[in-house]
Amino acid sequence: MMGATATLNKTNELGFYELRLESVGGLGANLAGQVLAQAMVLGQGFNGAHFSSYGSEKKGSPVKSFVRLCTAEKEVRSSSPVERPHLLAVFHQCLLKVEGTLAGLYPDSVVVVNSADTVDEVRDKANLPSGTLGVVNALDIAVAENTRINTAIMGAIVRASGFMDAAVVKKAIVDSFRDRYPKLVEPNLKTFDRGFNEIQIKEYPFDGKYQAVPFQRFVPALGYANAPMGGVIINPGNTAHKDLSASRQGIYPKYWRDRCIDCGLCTETCPDYVFVWDWGVDKKGQRARVLKGPNYQYCKGCLKCVEICPVEALTEECERPEFKFTGDVQLWGPPDALVTMGRESDPAKWEQDEGYYWYRVS
Ligand code: SF4
Ligand code: SF4
Repeated sequence: MMGATATLNKTNELGFYELRLESVGGLGANLAGQVLAQAMVLGQGFNGAHFSSYGSEKKGSPVKSFVRLCTAEKEVRSSSPVERPHLLAVFHQCLLKVEGTLAGLYPDSVVVVNSADTVDEVRDKANLPSGTLGVVNALDIAVAENTRINTAIMGAIVRASGFMDAAVVKKAIVDSFRDRYPKLVEPNLKTFDRGFNEIQIKEYPFDGKYQAVPFQRFVPALGYANAPMGGVIINPGNTAHKDLSASRQGIYPKYWRDRCIDCGLCTETCPDYVFVWDWGVDKKGQRARVLKGPNYQYCKGCLKCVEICPVEALTEECERPEFKFTGDVQLWGPPDALVTMGRESDPAKWEQDEGYYWYRVS
């Protein structure tokens, strides 16, 4: 233990302060939960536990990371998921429309969202009845600092929590990066500080704009006694609600119908069955099954389809105008951000085009 013992500013009936991080695979929520829990236990004198829930090792799959804290005198003997978070962090704004993301909030819970929108806009997207809402543009910060969004969100969480010590969490970040990735220590500390300083926080007393949903414990319909055989899909059509767009990191495959020869290679290559085919007119003017294009709801931005397409009917494009990306570029972002990413250190590899800097890997 290194720091003074702090006080939890609220606890549940069992004496726990609970955090839930809602994320998708690849955004670093598991590591963020781990670092926060480690900092609170080793540096602020709490007892605590961290664990995550995620599926297969697949970018884009849902990830929930849980942290449970209590006083040093108490033992943590529960490893059940956090159903009622005192602090909820949402790593991507798209998750706000996913059922269950905001489930179990108390009227005075703290919600931290990674978004480029204003706090009021995020409140409306989340239909938040009351509580404290913090919004941080973690993606912009991560692009500018050449890091990942999780450290920026950690900074935002620490500020919004009201009891976490920033110095203690920064030490835990240093400890987790120092040996394996020493070059990442400084950029991540800067990212943390920016998340801490740039979060916009607003309190919403209950004003009736959105109705509070009474907490209901989730009771699974299936258990050991009545679960069907493995591999049986009991709710056909369930992918209609799946949204992988949250796992794209600013780039997507743009489809050019006029170049497409309907060869189907993209469809065979895509790991997520994104491509939609239907009857139409092919290049010979005949009625045939033709590619209508990607359904971006399911696209996670891996760009395998761009690589396989023989006629450049799929090209990598930026989702937002301030980002630019090409296949042999490793770093990308708006000009100002890239300047801070070390353009001076290797000027020969940097190129400028249309106001954007590109970094050639080879
Ligand atoms: S980038 Fe292409 S291959 Fe990857 S998920 Fe999207 S459509 Fe499929
Ligand atoms: S690989 Fe390219 S040309 Fe072939 S169907 Fe897909 S988009 Fe069209």
